[in-house]
Amino acid sequence: MTHSDRILMGPGPSNPYPEVIEAFTRPVLGHLDPEFIALLDELNARLRTVWQTQNLLTFPVSATGSAGMEAAFCNFVEPDDTVVIGVNGVFGSRMCDVASRCGANVVAVEEQWGRAIDPQRLIDAHPSPKIIAVVHAETSTGVRNDIAPLGEAKGDALLLVDCVTSLGGIPVDIDGWGVDIAYSGTQKCLGVPPGLAPLTVSDRALESLVAKPQSWYLDLNMIRAYVVGEGARAYHHTAPISMLYALHAGLGTVLEEGLHNAWARHQACGDELHARLPELGFELWAQEGHRLPELTTVTLPAGLDDVAGRRTLLERYSIEVGGGLGPVAGKVWRIGCMGHTARMRNVRMLLGAIEELVAA
Ligand SMILES: *Cc1c(COP(=O)(O)O)cnc(C)c1O
Repeated sequence: MTHSDRILMGPGPSNPYPEVIEAFTRPVLGHLDPEFIALLDELNARLRTVWQTQNLLTFPVSATGSAGMEAAFCNFVEPDDTVVIGVNGVFGSRMCDVASRCGANVVAVEEQWGRAIDPQRLIDAHPSPKIIAVVHAETSTGVRNDIAPLGEAKGDALLLVDCVTSLGGIPVDIDGWGVDIAYSGTQKCLGVPPGLAPLTVSDRALESLVAKPQSWYLDLNMIRAYVVGEGARAYHHTAPISMLYALHAGLGTVLEEGLHNAWARHQACGDELHARLPELGFELWAQEGHRLPELTTVTLPAGLDDVAGRRTLLERYSIEVGGGLGPVAGKVWRIGCMGHTARMRNVRMLLGAIEELVAA
């Protein structure tokens, strides 16, 4: 039995855009075929528009968002480099793990889950870090951390930002904010299945590219000639052609709609959920003023069982929502409204289903 009607309102993947599904049916080309290279160049240009950057080194890493994180750290961190990392959820913790494995001296700036990190605390954490790293949209908590003040005060440090759940859903302004290294994923607000990690790196960051990172696969020294067209394209790894078609199509859909319109669509869905869920007995959990429209976190009304409630939503209404993680496992729901899923009809369907659920 297949569930082609599933509404994916968890923390990801989201439902892909129809144009994206269609792109998977395109014939597979050789990865050095001029026709494919032209598509890759156009894809990278589309990514620059969505990231709001001029960075030449902008391309999708051939693996999921976590590989984007690995690439961001392993190419710029050498043993004993100091890296300041904001931690207010799962993905900040994952950054610490990845940076430690590169031999970094990690200075973790912790904040309570559900609250945003004060940028000044990250700036004050160390006098001369090599990197200051933070998650823009914490998918484990539904919190948005401020980035622009970090760019203003970073000094000589490189600013590294996880934009997996923000790119395409809320404003991300790489050049305007002074972000040096950023990565994302395809399956959240970009409306493409999981499998690629858009990465962008500033020229300033490239000056401190590690000469021989411990990862062969993610070594940007080798990859960049292949993906951004400096000189002849040479084999590095076989590009995942069909996934790249899919991302090319997804970005095309977003840009055709208009980036600002896509943000507004995500915001309208988030606003509706934030307004209506409290009327149904839920409480908004993420800090006010830092709530993500694309990922709403709520505590459950008394009498509603986490696992049973989510199972009913899935089985009876074919709607997936996510449970809580870490300290709030079993206590909160994470409701995603990302990419193609971010439609008012889906919001209304979920609210109607929840209304029946809590009345039962
Ligand atoms: C989903 C996510 C990741 C990891 O991406 P994968 O595609 O699961 O590897 C990293 N950071 C954040 C903020 C995420 O939401």
